[in-house]
Amino acid sequence: MVLRERISEHTYVFRSNMYAKVNAGLINTPEGCILIDTLPYPEETQEIVHFVRRRLRSQVKYVILTHSHADHVYGAYLFPDAEVIGHLYARKLLLTQTKPALIKARTINPSLADVRLIMPAILMEKEAAVRLGGATLIMRHAPGHAPDVISVYYKEEKVLFASDAMMPIPYFVHGDIHDLRNTLQELARVSPVEDLVQGHGDVLLRGEVKTVIEDHLHYLDCVENHVDRVLAQGGGKDALLSLDVEDCGIPRIALEGLATQLHQENLVTLFLRKRKALRSDRKQRQVA
Ligand SMILES: [Zn+2]
Repeated sequence: MVLRERISEHTYVFRSNMYAKVNAGLINTPEGCILIDTLPYPEETQEIVHFVRRRLRSQVKYVILTHSHADHVYGAYLFPDAEVIGHLYARKLLLTQTKPALIKARTINPSLADVRLIMPAILMEKEAAVRLGGATLIMRHAPGHAPDVISVYYKEEKVLFASDAMMPIPYFVHGDIHDLRNTLQELARVSPVEDLVQGHGDVLLRGEVKTVIEDHLHYLDCVENHVDRVLAQGGGKDALLSLDVEDCGIPRIALEGLATQLHQENLVTLFLRKRKALRSDRKQRQVA
């Protein structure tokens, strides 16, 4: 069973209990619903379909895909009558990364047999808005976790859907650490916010938002400083991985115990990127 939370008058959050506590958001208006992301497994998204149909006696008019990652988009095909919205970069990423991953995942997981990827038909770049039944949703490009992430701010109820720009541990392996830092700083400026729905995990309340964003910025600085130090000292993998996730303020148990793994992926990714940049710098200087 999917966990369902009503966080404000017209806003529901559905959380996967099958994979990494992925969140989907639902705004219910008199003219229909807007769904923000879907859940990893079809049987979970199906629970949203039933809830909208049987409990709300409504239908989903728009599905906003906050980015192209599998765990957020696999359920979009269950809303054939909805308009699907995404970032300009999402189409390419869906075709080149999510699709091959789906083909592979299907061979291991038969419950994904019917999943079809839906390409967003409405594309946005920097900022766009949806209006439906008195609800205004402002979508903004929020890269860093991935290049195509968008955040969604539900103005009337002051709910900020931060997508994977906010999850229990910052994760930039498919994106860029500097973009993520800028995005977090921008999210901190969105005001007023009563609830912040992360891409994964618990909903943050007004009083927690600023502190958690600061913790995430601290985590990114901690990781980057360590990587710079290891590179300067010519250290290898052991030195790189000697930094525990808890040394940077994120509990090891975060995201159902995935924190250490994601943290190590962050370290290795940043190390390799910086080492490559240093080497090509050196090469250029030699040529000059
Ligand atoms: Zn993601």
